Amino acid sequence: MELTHETISLKLRHTFRTSREASDVRRNVVCKIQHQGVEGLGEAAPSTYYNQDAQTVSKALDDIALKLKDDPFALEGIVSEMWHLFPGEAAARAAVDMAIHDIVGKMLDVPLYRLLGLDPQKTPQTSVTVGLDDIEVMQKKVLELDQAPILKIKLGTQGDMDIVRAIRQISTATIRVDANAAWTAREALEKISALMEYDIEFVEQPLAADDLEGLRWLKKRVKVPIVLDESVRIAADIPALVDCAHGINIKLMKSGGLREALGMIHVARALGLRVMLGCMLETSLAVTAAAHLSPLVDYADLDGHLLIENDPYSGVDVVGGKLVLPQRPGIGAVTSAEGR
Ligand code: MG
Repeated sequence: MELTHETISLKLRHTFRTSREASDVRRNVVCKIQHQGVEGLGEAAPSTYYNQDAQTVSKALDDIALKLKDDPFALEGIVSEMWHLFPGEAAARAAVDMAIHDIVGKMLDVPLYRLLGLDPQKTPQTSVTVGLDDIEVMQKKVLELDQAPILKIKLGTQGDMDIVRAIRQISTATIRVDANAAWTAREALEKISALMEYDIEFVEQPLAADDLEGLRWLKKRVKVPIVLDESVRIAADIPALVDCAHGINIKLMKSGGLREALGMIHVARALGLRVMLGCMLETSLAVTAAAHLSPLVDYADLDGHLLIENDPYSGVDVVGGKLVLPQRPGIGAVTSAEGR
């Protein structure tokens, strides 16, 4: 198998602001693997939170390229070798894992969901994320999204209550919120209790990623489900979180690919946790790869491609909020020109 990669610049529709960071442009890396005339595509969306950027990803991909052997069906071995060599480069590993799944699907001429044994009718609706901004700007973004049945509102500011009140005034959509680890336990209890008035579906990552004691304390006291994102990357992280939350948010860029993500879904289910599938700021390529797993989850937040102005790919569609998987073999993402 022959691996090449290319860094792409993605322009965001709106400045993407969370309680931690803000950006207008993202640099992701597309990974292409050729095998017996078949091309597999994968994507890495590096995250500064995990000390990654397009350069560290490219370097990891160059190193992985030297190790790749010639059997794309040996996925288990490939994924575990990458994990041992590059534990910190989950986004790069995700790109390779995706590209190889894409090759296998294309060689067998089946869409990825079929390879995984999943029913494409069972995809959930996805939320669309509204980043932090002045309240009027956040309201304007919500009005632009009037077809979206579920909104995910970023919080973690002094004005959290005002934001949710203002959005609830103009929208009847389901609202979930994400504090990105910005609250203390007491503050979270106060805010979550007050937010109940606005009919919140769940709260994502209220406290610091490693504040498990605070999360345990909070879980006993709130009536709104808590879903953890920053606290969980891989399956081995999940057992310690059972008493800390009601669910976990799985992302390919944290897990290092589809294979580990699938394992995480089963581990979470076995432990009685709900499962959410999320994404970073990713094009339709990586979002479509994740969407193939979505028939297995309770909540989807697969909106990365909807936040990008110059998405070079098309794949999964969002119709009335529901994820509609492509029927093409493999991941089924094609360059936007091919898709037309
Ligand atoms: Mg989150």
